[in-house]
Amino acid sequence: MPNIISAQKAFFKAQKTKGISLRINLLKKLKQEIIAREQDIFGAIYKDFKKSSFEAFLSENGLIITEINLAIKNLKTWSKPERVKSSLLLFPSKDYIYKSPYGTVLIIGPWNYPFQLAINPLIIAIAAGNTVVLKPSELTPNTSQLIADIVKNIFPEEMATVIQGGIPVSTELLKQHWDYIFFTGSVSVGKIVAKAAAKHLTPVTLELGGKSPCIIDDTINLKLTAKRLVWGKFFNGGQTCIAPDYLIVKASIKNDLINNLKHEITKAYGDVKNSEDYPRIINHKNFLRLTNLLNDVNIAHGGDFDEKELYIAPTLIDEPDLDSNVMKDEIFGPILPVLSYETESDIESIIWHFEKPLSLYVFSKNKFFIKNTIEKFCFGGGVINDTLIHYGNSNLPFGGIGSSGIGAYHGKFGFDTFSHNKAIIKRGNWFDPPLRYAPYRGKLKLLKILFKWLS
Ligand code: NAD
Repeated sequence: MPNIISAQKAFFKAQKTKGISLRINLLKKLKQEIIAREQDIFGAIYKDFKKSSFEAFLSENGLIITEINLAIKNLKTWSKPERVKSSLLLFPSKDYIYKSPYGTVLIIGPWNYPFQLAINPLIIAIAAGNTVVLKPSELTPNTSQLIADIVKNIFPEEMATVIQGGIPVSTELLKQHWDYIFFTGSVSVGKIVAKAAAKHLTPVTLELGGKSPCIIDDTINLKLTAKRLVWGKFFNGGQTCIAPDYLIVKASIKNDLINNLKHEITKAYGDVKNSEDYPRIINHKNFLRLTNLLNDVNIAHGGDFDEKELYIAPTLIDEPDLDSNVMKDEIFGPILPVLSYETESDIESIIWHFEKPLSLYVFSKNKFFIKNTIEKFCFGGGVINDTLIHYGNSNLPFGGIGSSGIGAYHGKFGFDTFSHNKAIIKRGNWFDPPLRYAPYRGKLKLLKILFKWLS
């Protein structure tokens, strides 16, 4: 591990990551490799947790190709020094922001979108001119091995490499001195990463999770809302960081909404257990954690599971207590609690009860209710009248706030995340105003006039 890191640091210091055409060529090769190995990627993810090719294309390959294309198209512009307005006080000068890569970056990925959440930060870290050590999740061994093969085929080890392993490997990696750490995963491990980074004052991006609420008033189209909720909640088997964690529904329509949700679940998956489209829980530990949440709650739909197959049916829970297990932590599985509200202050007391979430969704036709809701609460990002889709627009920053994360990425935001803004002034020599130089006697008044005039 230390050998790889010092080789990467030497490669970086030798300016070998700085050529824009080199970066563009590598990104093009990576894109071709991902396109050529599409079936391998689908196969690996299916083996890891029975995710369908459709969901894999939409949420893994497809998103990555979009990000690579964007980086290839814009890299020259993004990496150009940006000229900014100068201050008259500094006349004569030309002022710039240089985009400067940090150096050697550690990327640690989660298992739930195992390909996309490892490769996406890699693409943009490389695009910004860094070297990368990538540690994908040990819980998706087939996908992680494929990622290692792909990276090895495209990049020299001094520029990007994959180190596989679980907690011990991750712990060892975190002991090293990195120039930047990009972590995607749980809040609890995010704290471990932040602590390790603090030791070397290494900057971090933490893409974490939390309980993302979905607020639904009584002005909605029930059928369309239910359809979009079922898609967003049960996509990837409910194992999505921005999945609606729980619903807060106007009490008068709660039962109607539950009936519509049941109908849409059946319409989407039919005989769910035998559906080709419904993934499995990632491992036994998570299966047990999730099935434990089903104790002592009122199950309105689903609730059946099969330990051998790591299968849990799409499940609706009617009105759990705020202090019940299912409402304690991020659910991260196919279980959807439905809470109800009468007044807006009921909504406030539920939302403020939790840490700031990664996402918030609101379904309504009432403009004031929507505006109030999205302006009142603190959350990473969200959608009005749908779920998850804000993740798919590279023109929007993706990241959390408070305990749901630090920093953001996607598209240009990702390039900025992996670049330091170097402030540079090029001073002219043809004129050298004498005001700033000692002796200062008699100059203060003029200096004050100048400051007043300039502000
Ligand atoms: P996790 O935190 O358990 O693991 C993430 C990575 O950290 C893995 O590579 C793992 O090997 C490593 N790791 C685990 N324990 C560690 C430790 N003690 N010390 C050092 N490294 C350790 O998360 P997960 O189960 O893979 O993913 C699920 C979580 O990730 C959920 O909370 C979800 O909300 C969050 N998530 C967030 C985003 C986002 O973009 N914000 C995306 C996907 C998942």
